[in-house]
Amino acid sequence: MNEYKIFINGDFVDGRGGIGEVINPHDNKPVAKYHIANYEDVDLAVKYAREGFEKWRNTPINKRIRILQNLSKLLSDNLDKIAQIESLNVGKPISSAKGEILAGINVLDFYIGAVNKIMGETIPTLPGLFNYTIREPIGVCALIVPWNYPLMLTLWKLSPALACGNSVIIKPASWTPLSALELAKLCKEAGIPDGVVNVITGPGNTIGSYLVQHEGVDKISFTGETKTGAEIMKLASNTIKRVSLELGGKSANIVFEDANLNDAVNGSVWAIYYNSGQSCEARSRILVHKKIYDKFLSEFVEKTKKIKIGYPLNKDTQMGPLVSKTHLNNVHKYVEEGINQGAKLIYGGKKIEDGELKDGNYYMPTILELNSSENICFKEEIFGPVVVIMQFETEEEAIKLANDSKYGLAGTIWTNDVKRAIRVTNAIRAGSITVNHPLTAIPGLPFGGYKQSGFGRELSLDAIDLFTEKKSVIYKYTEDEVNPWRL
Ligand code: NAD
Repeated sequence: MNEYKIFINGDFVDGRGGIGEVINPHDNKPVAKYHIANYEDVDLAVKYAREGFEKWRNTPINKRIRILQNLSKLLSDNLDKIAQIESLNVGKPISSAKGEILAGINVLDFYIGAVNKIMGETIPTLPGLFNYTIREPIGVCALIVPWNYPLMLTLWKLSPALACGNSVIIKPASWTPLSALELAKLCKEAGIPDGVVNVITGPGNTIGSYLVQHEGVDKISFTGETKTGAEIMKLASNTIKRVSLELGGKSANIVFEDANLNDAVNGSVWAIYYNSGQSCEARSRILVHKKIYDKFLSEFVEKTKKIKIGYPLNKDTQMGPLVSKTHLNNVHKYVEEGINQGAKLIYGGKKIEDGELKDGNYYMPTILELNSSENICFKEEIFGPVVVIMQFETEEEAIKLANDSKYGLAGTIWTNDVKRAIRVTNAIRAGSITVNHPLTAIPGLPFGGYKQSGFGRELSLDAIDLFTEKKSVIYKYTEDEVNPWRL
């Protein structure tokens, strides 16, 4: 079985916090071992990341670009290998793992193109003074990543961080550390100087929180649960760290009576069940106009039944297991509680317990019909293949239901009425809205949350703001005496 060490200052070294096992969600058998960092290891990673920062920010721009281009190429060359590791570790279908890594490479390429366009400006101000602004890297950035899209989300953060000249310490989620450690190998091979990229593993509540409070860390870029994000904001406040947060979601999917029903059904199925529903932007609340409700629901159920659930490494598999047994149990508890609170189970609602999938964390795609937005399954992020469906009568009611959430990450509208699409898009309080298709995360477009879904925008040029400081420089160019107090 492969054993993965932590990566500090360009070397794979023993983690002094013990050895953990990575479990395959398909059969709950171990697939690899990994070293866990202790506090001294974190101190070491920070020390070398500080040295790495000085090296990287002083690396000439063109050299930085070439090195990051090497990394992009190495990722493409190793796509099959890393996708297989990601698939075994997370349980995601191999086709999805490949697509997501390719999407991550696109993000890296986007920021490589930005390296030499991180510009300042000159602003008209006072006579006799000339000014300019410069964007400078922030310093050592802790990149804290969840388990649902381990490598892709790491690349969403690593790419702008390095493009702007920062050094990083990546902390992957404990269930899914492998692809970040594979990435570390490629960073070394690409020629990224030692200390610029470090990867430490370990539990969030010990190693993660120690990292977040560390005096030597300047910035936290976090993706994960809203309650963890709230904790991180608190922990980071003592040292006034820069913080950006991509958090949970409970996004609405509104189907109006004039929608193209076939597209709406296909898109809605994908928008909830992709990655077994373990997506922050999963459209987990479907709202359908009363007139087409029965027809939509019956087609939605039929298409849900057709999803190919199976072994993640089979190339035809569309839905794999959930990431862990613990998570599977949590998802099922939500479904049980939702039903206790009055939800009607239309389909699914249970673990797959027979056949060749019985030892894995496979959960049936699940549809719950609701008549109240007070139900726990309407309110809480379940993060599994569970969708709630409700009907509405008026546009106002649809908007009210869509906004009836503490989250505000995404939303989808299905309608052929352009005026209505614009009205509803404007009324929904969320960071990404799609009209007549389900794709939200597209390199180049800002991605992030309103309300308790977080703040800061990734995937786009906006992320340059998240990984740079802005300095104002002011020159006097007249011969006048300098004597502001008229002394
Ligand atoms: P999580 O919050 O449990 O963990 C995320 C990461 O934070 C892990 O690496 C974990 O070890 C670490 N961590 C936990 N406690 C910490 C602490 N006190 N200090 C520092 N680090 C700590 O989230 P998860 O279960 O891994 O991921 C699922 C969540 O992520 C969902 O809520 C989902 O919506 C969210 N998510 C959001 C986005 C987005 O872009 N908005 C994208 C993907 C996932």
